[in-house]
Amino acid sequence: MENTQFDYVIIGSGFGGSVSALRLAEKGYKVLVVEKGKWYRAGDFARTNWQFAKWLWLPAFRWFGIMKITIFRHVGVISGTGVGGGSLVYANTLPMPKPAFFQSGSWAKLADWQQELQPFYQKAVAMLGATKNPRLFDGEQALQNLAREIGQEHAFDATRVAVYFGEPDQTVDDPFFGGKGPERTGCNFCGACMTGCRHNAKNTLDKNYLYLAQQHGAQILAEQEVVDVRPAGAPDGADGYEIELRSATRFFKKRQVLRARGVIFSGGVLGTVKLLLKLRRRSLPRLSDMVGREVRTNNESLIAVTQLDQSADWSKGIAIGAIVQTDEHSHLELCRYGAGSGAWRLTFLPFVEGRNMLVRMLKMAGDVLLHPVTYWRYFRVKDWAKSSTVMLFMQTLDSTVTFQRSFWGGLRTQIVGAEKPTAFIPRAIELARRFEKLVGGKAMAFGLTPLAGIPGTAHILGGAVMGDSPETGVIDRDNHVFGYQNMLVCDGAMISANPGVNPALSITAIAERAMHNIPPKA
Ligand SMILES: Cc1cc2nc3c(=O)[nH]c(=O)nc-3n(C[C@H](O)[C@H](O)[C@H](O)COP(=O)(O)OP(=O)(O)OC[C@H]3O[C@@H](n4cnc5c(N)ncnc54)[C@H](O)[C@@H]3O)c2cc1C
Ligand code: SF4
Repeated sequence: MENTQFDYVIIGSGFGGSVSALRLAEKGYKVLVVEKGKWYRAGDFARTNWQFAKWLWLPAFRWFGIMKITIFRHVGVISGTGVGGGSLVYANTLPMPKPAFFQSGSWAKLADWQQELQPFYQKAVAMLGATKNPRLFDGEQALQNLAREIGQEHAFDATRVAVYFGEPDQTVDDPFFGGKGPERTGCNFCGACMTGCRHNAKNTLDKNYLYLAQQHGAQILAEQEVVDVRPAGAPDGADGYEIELRSATRFFKKRQVLRARGVIFSGGVLGTVKLLLKLRRRSLPRLSDMVGREVRTNNESLIAVTQLDQSADWSKGIAIGAIVQTDEHSHLELCRYGAGSGAWRLTFLPFVEGRNMLVRMLKMAGDVLLHPVTYWRYFRVKDWAKSSTVMLFMQTLDSTVTFQRSFWGGLRTQIVGAEKPTAFIPRAIELARRFEKLVGGKAMAFGLTPLAGIPGTAHILGGAVMGDSPETGVIDRDNHVFGYQNMLVCDGAMISANPGVNPALSITAIAERAMHNIPPKA
């Protein structure tokens, strides 16, 4: 890069970062987006998730894929990496949270959020090209049957998703932005959204916000990780910042320093909170003590169910085709992978609940001994993706963990006087058992859940929440970091309550509002 002076440097290119890039570039600012992950084109994505190097982000193995798995003591997190952040790996689903989200948590008293955010939700829906899933397949049918069985069929619906549903496999000129966007191809319902859409049908951020931001002059620098942000003069950043980067994919990590008037932290919860905790020790000592506090998991549970007679093909459709509200506080979705993507089964163990590891291990052994035929049939399933679905259960009920800096400089979790997330939510277990019976299936879960009692989540949120002062939050109601000028947090870390549904739409809407409040460049 020849010119190293910018108005704004944006750290991370996920939902918050992409919105920031477009809106600031439109307002005349000189913008650079720095992204740790790779820049994937449609044909680059893994054909199935057995292609680990393209699916998983594990730089130590030289795997630079789109999904990162991070295991902490109290939660296992899956998140996205690459130009477009979590949009590359996510399941496209964009529901609206219930009113409880806007009225709880540390942001509740700062505004009438439901009303204030309404126009920004509309904007986000339009920009992400979100529309109702037009086709229900075997998997959705199974969910509808479960909804009927629990008396909630009225609360079953097709999902609203960010997918282009033109003629399957037919490419057309930009259908979303009056010709200013890229060509797109109609979805063919292959089910592979979570390994990356190879068909140019999924509305990932590189096809909307980031694409348009580039038209307005924003630059995107991939495979570079921001490792330091320090005031360039005045300690509150009034003279701008120095931002230090290093290669995220090369062995020899050459460093580079840029200057910018403002900085937007958009590295997702794991990227932003890790960086802020590090910077608070030296470069940005004015950061609030609230950094890392109030991290939420959407009170989530992920349980896979495999149908043993292999009669239906659950791999057909989009990644999440339907949703059902199972009670006042909870939603359930079934997630699919495309045919052939069966790698998760390597990590799965029988789903059992129990007080401690010993009890759970005994239960697992007992289950295998008592049901040898079931397990024999389970291991004989030819294509896991065709016969399996992951039940994604989410709740608005609150539970939090705290992120702290570990001895090695990474993140570790702690429970600080709050309700902690649990791997064994009674309602989720009840639904999984009912579904098992309904479809003649076997419930399995990511090994750490039955072994160590650690819940998994795809929706890690918070850690730099909103408050009315540095004592109650890291950022104010307009996303500005307390103690510093022209510094904002715009990503999942800003989410200050449990949405109880998939959060990307809310992240996009809140980022839209934060950017709306920044004046155009003078
Ligand atoms: C398998 C899966 C399925 C999901 N499905 C859905 C769904 O259907 N609907 C939904 O709403 N949500 C879904 N999610 C969650 C959704 O992807 C996230 O909530 C969302 O992406 C978070 O957005 P963000 O703005 O916080 O940042 P992210 O999208 O997480 O992006 C952050 C980016 O910053 C980069 N970064 C981090 N640190 C640095 C650094 N120091 N320097 C440079 N770059 C950095 C990262 O590489 C990443 O690309 C899913 C997640 C997963 C893993
Ligand atoms: S179902 Fe297939 S074609 Fe459609 S968006 Fe998902 S990956 Fe792309």
